[in-house]
Amino acid sequence: MRILVIEDELKTAAYLKKGLEESGYAVDVANDGQQGLLLALEEEYDVIVLDVMLPGMDGWTVVKTLRSTRTTPVLFLTARDDVDDRVRGLELGADDYLVKPFAFVEMLARVRTLARRGPPRESELIKVGDLEMDVSRRRVKRGGMRIDLTPREFSLLQLLARRQGEVLSRTQIASYVWDMNFDSDTNVVEVAIRRLRTKIDDNFPVKLIHTVRGVGYVLEVKDTA
Ligand code: CA
Repeated sequence: MRILVIEDELKTAAYLKKGLEESGYAVDVANDGQQGLLLALEEEYDVIVLDVMLPGMDGWTVVKTLRSTRTTPVLFLTARDDVDDRVRGLELGADDYLVKPFAFVEMLARVRTLARRGPPRESELIKVGDLEMDVSRRRVKRGGMRIDLTPREFSLLQLLARRQGEVLSRTQIASYVWDMNFDSDTNVVEVAIRRLRTKIDDNFPVKLIHTVRGVGYVLEVKDTA
């Protein structure tokens, strides 16, 4: 889950970032409206926390511009409990608002609600045999049983699952999952695959991750007939 915080008060921004990160979110911070809008349009966020009073471009303009192309949930932060402010924010496309000062736990609750409500993105559910990946919720199940993966393992499985039936080389996997190139003699990919296998395949008679000698790995339901 990724959150964008658009807030010009540095102390507040740092406080929100720290708190949200401690709650398990990945957080980007923009300190003015223009930079915030740019990030909101370029990146994928689950929720945007948007301060109304910002230098350069105010929060109203940010949400109004954002809404012409994006449905990312927006939590507005207003400085005063003014009915007009709230109505205006909601009319322009904000999903919820909070009046400053607020308790962090309250903001966290709002963010969680908005993140759950968030718009579904393309191909959110990937299925391979009895393996199910819910990409937006970062959940994996096999045979109906929940499997906990680290973020890296999740990315690795997501890559293999999106390209099921296709053999991927170690180099391809390394460049997608680690965003870097490894020397051909490193075994980072092998180690990661081994860990993933213990979680995905070890407890099941039908194996999904297969090694193709000298080539790489493939995720598929092999036809044993
Ligand atoms: Ca402000």
